[in-house]
Amino acid sequence: MNYNEDKIDEYTLALMCLVTHERHEGMGARAWKGFDWETLNRLHEKGYISNPRGKTKSVLMTEDGFLKAKELFDKYFTEDMKKDIKPIPFPKMPGAAKQRWAELSSDSKKAVINSAWCTRCMDGTTIQISEGRMSGRSLVLRGTCKKCGGKVARTIEPED
Ligand SMILES: [Zn+2]
Repeated sequence: MNYNEDKIDEYTLALMCLVTHERHEGMGARAWKGFDWETLNRLHEKGYISNPRGKTKSVLMTEDGFLKAKELFDKYFTEDMKKDIKPIPFPKMPGAAKQRWAELSSDSKKAVINSAWCTRCMDGTTIQISEGRMSGRSLVLRGTCKKCGGKVARTIEPED
């Protein structure tokens, strides 16, 4: 099998963040070593972990290894979530939707914005509105979750 060993090394080191069970400030950490043997040997050669040989189920991460692991974890597994959240200048709301939205008091608007349900967070959230459209007599707002950047919709029923 042909694969990019350096990339495997980086992902493996990053994933070690999830299995770190002892952190010694300034002196590295211990992590469970249930990873590919060859990869662990390469990480050892690169100075990120102690020699993985031996019967213990965990391996010592050097301070360099621990810090590098945290940096790579952020790079590979959290950056995409930040990228999703884009500032939205003006929500698109054609004619009728804009009118319906304008009819709401600013308190109602605030309540609507702060009571959207995000299926990704499984929690109530604040919607960052990107567009509003009428669907029958209801105004449907679409946008993104302020917490995770996931897609969120909020429907405003007619008042009468
Ligand atoms: Zn969310």
